[in-house]
Amino acid sequence: MQSKKRIALVAHDNRKQDLTEWVEFNALKLREHKIICTGTTGKLLEQQLQFILDPDDFKKFEVKKLKSGPLGGDQQLGALIVEGEIDLMIFFWDPMQPQPHDVDVKALLRITVLYNVPTACNRSTADFLISSHLFNEEYHQKVKDYSSYINREVKM
Ligand code: PGA
Repeated sequence: MQSKKRIALVAHDNRKQDLTEWVEFNALKLREHKIICTGTTGKLLEQQLQFILDPDDFKKFEVKKLKSGPLGGDQQLGALIVEGEIDLMIFFWDPMQPQPHDVDVKALLRITVLYNVPTACNRSTADFLISSHLFNEEYHQKVKDYSSYINREVKM
């Protein structure tokens, strides 16, 4: 991955406040990167950033909004990971409430592990990620070789 990262930001409703505060606190670091969000998370972050940043800083922020999570946004994000278009994910999921799209959430978390995408699900992990020197450097992450699985013999 390049030094400019493509960062997925997602939060369930009860954790949006947490994510918004984290983004506000790290706004100047994050504006050097590209942000990809599920729909509602992205909309709220944009509103908040517009409120706290001066207009020139706000213009530098690149936020791409996908569909809302329960409407397919998590699956869109999963597909972007499979295509190698996401470098890092901050996903504050709600441990206290079932979601209508729980299966999509599980699939998204699975795909981040499969493709070795650095993923933070709480603020302290997100703090550790953003304060790593690798956050602003090129990094070659290893992805497990799945060729023996792809080429396995399937009995017909
Ligand atoms: P949202 O989706 O940002 O559209 O609320 C969050 C999620 O993926 O659950």
